[in-house]
Amino acid sequence: MTGRFFLETYGCQMNIAESNAMTLQLEALGWSAAERPEEADIVLLNTCAVRQTAEDRIWGRIGYYKFLKESRDFTLIVTGCMAERLGEEIIKESKAVDYVLGTFQKRKLSEIACGHGETHAPVKADDLSVSPHFQFEPYHLAKGAFKAFLPIMHGCNNFCSYCIVPYVRGREISRSPEDIFREIERLEEKGVREITLLGQNVNSYNWNDTLRFPDLLAKIASMTDSIRWIRFMSSHPKDIPQELIRVIAEHETVCNHIHLPVQHGSNSVLRRMNRKYTREHYFDLVEMMRSVIPGLSLSTDLMIGFPGESEEDFELTLDLVRQVGFDDAFTYYYNPREGTAAYDMAEQVPHEVKLDRLKTLIELQREISFARRKARIGDSERVLVEQRAKKREGELLARTNRNEMVAFPGGEGLIGSFVPVVLKTLHGNTFRGEVVCPGK
Ligand code: SF4
Repeated sequence: MTGRFFLETYGCQMNIAESNAMTLQLEALGWSAAERPEEADIVLLNTCAVRQTAEDRIWGRIGYYKFLKESRDFTLIVTGCMAERLGEEIIKESKAVDYVLGTFQKRKLSEIACGHGETHAPVKADDLSVSPHFQFEPYHLAKGAFKAFLPIMHGCNNFCSYCIVPYVRGREISRSPEDIFREIERLEEKGVREITLLGQNVNSYNWNDTLRFPDLLAKIASMTDSIRWIRFMSSHPKDIPQELIRVIAEHETVCNHIHLPVQHGSNSVLRRMNRKYTREHYFDLVEMMRSVIPGLSLSTDLMIGFPGESEEDFELTLDLVRQVGFDDAFTYYYNPREGTAAYDMAEQVPHEVKLDRLKTLIELQREISFARRKARIGDSERVLVEQRAKKREGELLARTNRNEMVAFPGGEGLIGSFVPVVLKTLHGNTFRGEVVCPGK
């Protein structure tokens, strides 16, 4: 049995990597990708459960496919984190869904595509024994891509009190170094220029107590030749050893950018979030990283409106943001997730207060990001060209080693190449640059 499939992906980079792997699984069985869901024999929704808004959107898509099924027959599969969290409910609420595959069941896709799948049998992460049920796919590259996401570990043991991830992705497991190196060799053969090592908490990578993340990163940095840039995410501030900072500083291929989610600037909120570090620890870490890695770019995640957040707590977050001077920040407000420790906490912050605080924080971070980038005008950078600029005809969009975007005039032939540019002006968060001399 073969035909055409359509895959919709929601959420994080891990989901993107896993969707790429599912695409490869289906293509290996003779299936081909449909341009539109209305032409597909299998529609797959690879879902996210991190925020309610993501789940609401997916319920909307399931509703659309229910409507579509009134006029034509196809198989609808819901997989990913929302499938893991709400498997039974999805089956009960929508008869249009044919299969629900939890996080640990994605491999069943091949059986379904061959026409032999068992229906409606989600498995919960809680049911897992110590042996790793999650299986890493061997290969995650999207067709024709020159940048790749490479999962190296999966799951999380941290149980931050607001986060659903440990419940839908299970406990941490690390991928074998042999499998990681094998995939990197294949990526090199395909001409990939940049890889991002992925995990819910990459710093926890631990292969049988013989290989930890700093050593793995150093090995990868030393083995790659054609892959020029290595990134990694996400990192937890409680798990950054000095050794890792040294590896970043010593290897030119490891990018000078760390995404280090601080989440909040108040110790009392950090404690209730179960983050297991203090603002003082974070300051020390930033100081050490910046002293060892010159030119380091630092980004973070910041959450506003966690239960019990007082005006004073919020001011401490603003203070931390001013003191650290992040290059970028992903800012968002607390969204209660059923099943997490924070869900029933008293003193939920009113929605309007969350929005007000978020606005203040965004404005502050925007000023800081702008000032930090402005200081870089005139610098020369080697950028990796990613795509055509959507808003300006004849321009390309590229990324610096420090994860900044640069637009500059150029031909499409440069996409996928490294090009030297000089940063001339700044529009919002994007530089406008000029090529110094065309190169590869
Ligand atoms: S470290 Fe915390 S926020 Fe990150 S995935 Fe684990 S539980 Fe969630």
